Amino acid sequence: MALSDTRFSNRRRALAAKLASQRVDTMLVTHLIHVRYLSGFSGSNGAVLVNKDLSAKISTDGRYFTQIAEEVPDIEMVEGRNPGLSLLKQVEGPRRVGFEADFVSVSALEQLKEAAGEEIALVPISGVIEEIRLTKDPLELERLGLVADLANSSLAELIAEGGLRAGISEKQVAADLEYRMRMKGAERPSFDTIVASGPNSAKPHHGASDRIIEHGDLVTIDFGAHDRGFNSDTTRTFVIGEASDFAKEIYQVVLEAQLQGVEAAVPGAALADVDKACRDVITAAGYGEYFVHSTGHGVGLDLHEAPYAATTGTGVLAPGMTLTIEPGIYVPGKGGVRIEDTLVITEGVPKNLTRGLPKELQVL
Ligand code: ZN
Ligand code: ZN
Repeated sequence: MALSDTRFSNRRRALAAKLASQRVDTMLVTHLIHVRYLSGFSGSNGAVLVNKDLSAKISTDGRYFTQIAEEVPDIEMVEGRNPGLSLLKQVEGPRRVGFEADFVSVSALEQLKEAAGEEIALVPISGVIEEIRLTKDPLELERLGLVADLANSSLAELIAEGGLRAGISEKQVAADLEYRMRMKGAERPSFDTIVASGPNSAKPHHGASDRIIEHGDLVTIDFGAHDRGFNSDTTRTFVIGEASDFAKEIYQVVLEAQLQGVEAAVPGAALADVDKACRDVITAAGYGEYFVHSTGHGVGLDLHEAPYAATTGTGVLAPGMTLTIEPGIYVPGKGGVRIEDTLVITEGVPKNLTRGLPKELQVL
């Protein structure tokens, strides 16, 4: 399709433009998410070679020949069971070839060095494609919006139909939610759904256990859908039956922190300041020591990707970036609350991809 050709070649152009500053002639891309980002190929074995003159080659093995011809009509294909190695062998020296330092294993690097010989210098490159991925194009934003709607409407339906209640297990709620997301067209959840009830809600990354949900529990559900390469990420915390004073108190603090974080997420804002906007509310309420993680992350082809809103965060927000705002309070033995939206940073008020799920305390 003409549309997709332009999209992928634009990304390769952006990469080629960065190669000179990295002092390389060619970039060997082996991380599968990056292969897909730069070419459209979605198979499980592949690599792409992008030269600074914009010429490119792609490689995969026989299982994917039909698929790659459909998905990548505009790049010359080289057969290879080890695609990275096959592409490197295509390079004629002398050349400086960049490789993805964050994604090449020690043994794979040994193989590449052997194939490179004396004419080709292998140069470790880090974060360059990630930097291009920071700013989403309109089609990426559309797909992120669709996958978010699919996931969030699934939870809204589950809640409306009484799918979260006392007497059933965390695993059953997770299974129900994942089934609904798949029935709406998700390829899979973007991660194992978290359903953390009662004392489990005090563990930020609890999974979903056999624990039976009880009257009075706080229940945190953190979930997302994955489709066509893209992910969504949302968290809501509910109370079952009746909210204790403790539950009401920490819920209001987290909600206020979350709203402050959303307000702070404007173009030009330092990522550390977005984190601080959330953290200050929680600290002022006396729960600072119980907010044990950072405020948020980008969402795209990876569930967790740059930018990162953390106390140690660097850089500033710009239009086209995504960012979750997900403060939480976790008091061991008592319970916890987390509220998470995924935002798209725009020139004005951020666009909130988390729709149809109220943030006020819901007692079910
Ligand atoms: Zn999440
Ligand atoms: Zn998240």
